[in-house]
Amino acid sequence: MSAYNVRLVNPWKMWFKRQEVMHEVSLLFEPAAKKAGYNGVNVTATLYQPQLLPADVQIYLVPNEGFSLLEKEFGEDVGDAAGRTVYDRGASEVYLAGEFVSQHGGGVFMRIDGISAGGTSFEFIHSPATIAKIIFHETLHNKLQLGSKLHTRKGPADALFRETLKGDHSKLSKEDTDLLASKLKAKVKQWEGGWKHLPQST
Ligand SMILES: [Zn+2]
Repeated sequence: MSAYNVRLVNPWKMWFKRQEVMHEVSLLFEPAAKKAGYNGVNVTATLYQPQLLPADVQIYLVPNEGFSLLEKEFGEDVGDAAGRTVYDRGASEVYLAGEFVSQHGGGVFMRIDGISAGGTSFEFIHSPATIAKIIFHETLHNKLQLGSKLHTRKGPADALFRETLKGDHSKLSKEDTDLLASKLKAKVKQWEGGWKHLPQST
């Protein structure tokens, strides 16, 4: 069987540690993919809408909540601290910088070319490993089509997910892997409308 596709999309044209994030996502998803019968994981990160296969997951990478594409499409909702999924619409986004900017600001900046022609700097706070965990978490919401019920679980699916973002780099639990593996093949139609909510200049 082929590899499982994780499609990261970057409509805001952010400059971030793309290769490192893709690598960390591969590490997190591989056990679940193999358990589900795939021979591995294929992670891509693109500026434009990729062609999706029916079981692929697509995650929008977004600077922070202020740039939410899901909010423009689906309205205000309760999201996670570092990402958001409208689970019955196959729509997920992950914030590379989050609400903890003021606590973690370390003078590292991320360039976002989608805001203006000249690009704009933005404080970048989450490590590639943390971003990968947020992607894993939102993928669970997306593929299991579960809202806050997911948060009764341990690991990256835990309600204490914020603690992970504060520096607890706990590993995935076996339950997390089993949970994702159980629904990886589910054909959840992914929302592909993110680009239409960008400013006209992009
Ligand atoms: Zn969540």
